[in-house]
Amino acid sequence: MQKMAQHMQVEELWFKDGTVVFQAEHKMFCLHSGLVSARSEVFKQILEDKNSDSAFGITRGIYQTGIPLIQLQETAQDANNFFLAIYDIISGFFEPPPMKVSTEVVLSILRMGTKYHVNALRRRALAHLNTMYPLTLDEWDRRNETGTMSVQSEVQASFAHESTFARAFTIAKAAREFALPWVLPTALYECCQYDLEVILAHFARARDQDIIEADADTELHNSILVGAFKHMEATRDVLKFLIAESPADICADPAACHEVRRVCLNNIYGITFGSGDPLGIWDDEDWDTYLDGMCPDCVKLSWEQHKRERLALWRKLPFMYAQATVQNWEVLKEWFDRDMAI
Ligand SMILES: [Zn+2]
Repeated sequence: MQKMAQHMQVEELWFKDGTVVFQAEHKMFCLHSGLVSARSEVFKQILEDKNSDSAFGITRGIYQTGIPLIQLQETAQDANNFFLAIYDIISGFFEPPPMKVSTEVVLSILRMGTKYHVNALRRRALAHLNTMYPLTLDEWDRRNETGTMSVQSEVQASFAHESTFARAFTIAKAAREFALPWVLPTALYECCQYDLEVILAHFARARDQDIIEADADTELHNSILVGAFKHMEATRDVLKFLIAESPADICADPAACHEVRRVCLNNIYGITFGSGDPLGIWDDEDWDTYLDGMCPDCVKLSWEQHKRERLALWRKLPFMYAQATVQNWEVLKEWFDRDMAI
């Protein structure tokens, strides 16, 4: 096999009639300055104004064919994803929801779309994030069906994998970095679903590899540790209906209903109360699986209490992780609407 050139021309983004070469790490892209300028005010400025270098962290040169060469600060992957989205040459590469998209592409477009002011693509990235990190409990409950980013299925498939925690952490970090506070509560919730061993192993590795980049990272680590404990407390609250008394004026046989609860608690005690997923710990099927034999009135009361506690937890979510920029969901919704209007 032929040895790869040190700098790789990206085949689908190397146009023979291109007028400018962009370089990010080892990848090179020969593009059309007119098209890139039309899509991005910032690139327009870079391509027209030679004095803008320091503002955008670029380095200029001349490519071997004599056309301008602009070296970007971004990673090769980010630049590749971004230029593919700008040129829209691969069918379905970055369509709006409900089309699926990879987490990496969403984050690349978020980073580059924000920096280079390509607002239409940035909004699309935010729309995908919103399907995964929504603003209402109803949407959160439906995210298995409506979420468009790939991280979801992996979280569901395996709670124990550090790599999937790493992804959740990356989203939380991006939410901080790009001032998307409406993503943060659910992104942190997702991080805190993992076992403490997984969370701590990830942090230890980050320290070993010296990739804790800033105080903000440390603050995020602390938020997740605080959150992981609060999730266990919240699980107890959400399952409070299992220790409720059956009201004698409503329940036909309080002793029998109490016994059903006792057996249920006995069965789920060890596996459930250390759970980091209070919103998902008790699902629709559990009513039949665990509380079969309880009278219909007690089931109804329990169901209402469970629903109330879940909703109360959802309303508390933005305040659970000791974040400095906490707001209630109503304010976060306004923030989201503003982001989507840019
Ligand atoms: Zn009863």
